[in-house]
Amino acid sequence: MLRPRIVILGAGFGGMYVAKRFKRLAKKGLIELTIINRTNYFLFTPLLHEVATGGLNPRNVAEPIREVFAGTPVRVVQAAVESIDTEKRIVTVSAHNETTEIPYDYLVIATGAETNYYGIPGASEHTLPLKNLADAARIRSEIIDAFEHAVLAQSEEERRELLSFAIVGGGATGVELAAELSDFVQGMIKRYYRKTHCAPSEPGHCRSEEAAITLIHTGKELLEMFVPSLRKASERRLIKSGVVLRLGSTVTEVMPDGLRLADGTFVIASTTVWTAGVKAIVPRFAGEQPALSGSRLIVDEFFRLQGHERIFALGDAAGYVDTHAFKKDSKNTRPVPMLAQAAVLETKIVTANILASIRRKPLFTFQYKPKGAMVSVGQWFAIGEIYSLHIAGWFTWWLWRTVYLFKFASWQKRIRIMIEWTLDIFFPRDITKLM
Ligand SMILES: Cc1cc2nc3c(=O)[nH]c(=O)nc-3n(C[C@H](O)[C@H](O)[C@H](O)COP(=O)(O)OP(=O)(O)OC[C@H]3O[C@@H](n4cnc5c(N)ncnc54)[C@H](O)[C@@H]3O)c2cc1C
Repeated sequence: MLRPRIVILGAGFGGMYVAKRFKRLAKKGLIELTIINRTNYFLFTPLLHEVATGGLNPRNVAEPIREVFAGTPVRVVQAAVESIDTEKRIVTVSAHNETTEIPYDYLVIATGAETNYYGIPGASEHTLPLKNLADAARIRSEIIDAFEHAVLAQSEEERRELLSFAIVGGGATGVELAAELSDFVQGMIKRYYRKTHCAPSEPGHCRSEEAAITLIHTGKELLEMFVPSLRKASERRLIKSGVVLRLGSTVTEVMPDGLRLADGTFVIASTTVWTAGVKAIVPRFAGEQPALSGSRLIVDEFFRLQGHERIFALGDAAGYVDTHAFKKDSKNTRPVPMLAQAAVLETKIVTANILASIRRKPLFTFQYKPKGAMVSVGQWFAIGEIYSLHIAGWFTWWLWRTVYLFKFASWQKRIRIMIEWTLDIFFPRDITKLM
């Protein structure tokens, strides 16, 4: 095999970082590298909640794939993966109403995950997901729209209904969004929608106590991956920001005007965001379908698909159970979590093992060694576990921002975000409604 053809499906944290690791070999002409993605950009999901709440401009959390590989022979294809033929070693993609076949010698599946509504009636129809840029832009737009509509409300009750927002899911995304949403909503009321004298008969007045943000979570506590003291710190912070917590509550039905919980209560919400779970996106295979663990592709310790020596999978799409990481609890067979950090750590082993396979050398095994995790809870506050250190407060928040800033590939994006974050300190968030 003179110039092996390596094809990567998905340009998220997994696919993009694998491609970046192969960039040098592609430049030298030692491999042919193709990266296929639905959009023409890499999306930095950890900052998506700031786009949804007017803190960041959408284009600042996306990096065009072509920009990252400019001046290299890496082939960038903006298309949707339709199917994989493992016999013929061909990927079929579709774009502009046409299908194209792309042959491969080695394939990397990094197609990520999509929102999981768990079949709850009304959830997919009446809630907004937060997975991509369009979702974030839509959430922002619906929140601004709720305020513009509330200005015309004929009664206090109607206004209250319009200004009721709910978030389902108390993981990192739900907590970060709830806290930022509270800052956004309170800021809007204070600056644009408040009047000192507010009479229900007079339309046009929104009072801060009329706006409600409810965070609904099935678990008894938020952010279960953190130690109890940090979970409590984030809970206290959210309550202080005015977020109503409904813990230990399961949503059983979603309607256009709110949500029904398992205990029969009804939570009013004009806008509901669903952050309660995700499921892997697994491309269709021609012929026999690969084995799944839950929704994720089962991979071996080398990150190869079972029974396929030339197909690797990583990130949210792949469910690798790291027995070393969980050896303290032998019964624990949780797969490596669906996190950007995990996906990026896996890229090293996938790249090394593809090269080892090409050179017919022994493959490397993976051990999941997370460095820690941080979650922001509104402006100036974050919680974090860094190795065995547990921290919370404004310094953690500063650290959280600095760490994420340096995860961007280009200085151009880092500088743009730094400027935006600085401006956000002095100026109100933008409420221009574009959609
Ligand atoms: C709002 C939000 C906040 C998050 N915050 C954090 C955080 O703070 N820290 C953290 O560690 N993790 C966070 N995550 C999780 C993190 O984003 C994922 O774990 C990570 O992106 C997984 O990387 P991946 O490469 O597997 O998938 P992704 O990054 O999702 O990339 C998958 C790519 O595949 C493309 N794709 C999918 N299907 C097709 C198809 N059929 N054809 C072509 N292209 C396709 C998609 O367009 C996408 O570009 C967050 C996720 C969300 C949604």
